[in-house]
Amino acid sequence: MGVPANRLFGGAVRQEVRVNRLMGMYPPREMAEKCAAVVEKGYTALKLKVGTTLQEDVERVRRVREAVGPEVMLTIDFNQACSAKEAIQRIQRMEPYDVAIVEQPVKAADLKGMALVRRAVQARVMADESVNSAAEAMRVIESGAADIISLKIPKMGGIFKARKVAALCEAAGIDYLVGTAPGTRLLDAAGVHLAVSLRNLTLPCEIGEFERMAGDPCSGLEIVGGISRPPPGPGLGVEVDLGRIGLAG
Ligand SMILES: [Mg+2]
Repeated sequence: MGVPANRLFGGAVRQEVRVNRLMGMYPPREMAEKCAAVVEKGYTALKLKVGTTLQEDVERVRRVREAVGPEVMLTIDFNQACSAKEAIQRIQRMEPYDVAIVEQPVKAADLKGMALVRRAVQARVMADESVNSAAEAMRVIESGAADIISLKIPKMGGIFKARKVAALCEAAGIDYLVGTAPGTRLLDAAGVHLAVSLRNLTLPCEIGEFERMAGDPCSGLEIVGGISRPPPGPGLGVEVDLGRIGLAG
């Protein structure tokens, strides 16, 4: 049809999306330096991987907050590392450093534990590994386990399935954002097309992960000043260099 992909699922309701940039897990001092460098490039939202010891996790967040200043929005992702009690203890110790969102503090199946964390901390709790489908989103919503659900296209099984979960969130009055897995511009382009089509989206989305990938065979998508815009061409709008992945000719 020769149209941008977002036109195939409702069209763009916004022109650009604020990017939440993922930061891998590093020792606290190194993590703070890396975060400061990313903020220097214009990013205003960062997601920090945490989940080692209480001392180290709190020090990571403290040092990053000191390095990036008060305005940057911080998300922390535990990747299921804690029990509910451990998570509550760590998150409460981080409260002076203004963490906005806590992602998947407990095991994916522990919805009671996640609901307990949600009630005990100021930060908003986001479900990631707990939600791979619309049915799982229903259970998280019914359990009161999350304030936010992370819509990841690969995890949900495609753009249309991610949009079903978005519709459930809208009906339940909870938030969502477009998350991602590390990948090429092809995946992030799909993410930004989805993000611009979501009417209730207010949170920064994980769009810039291609920047962390060496040798991306795709081109046509860049993050400028921490903001992503969908490429204007047909489809996802990125070019794939088939020669570089051994598929040319
Ligand atoms: Mg996660």
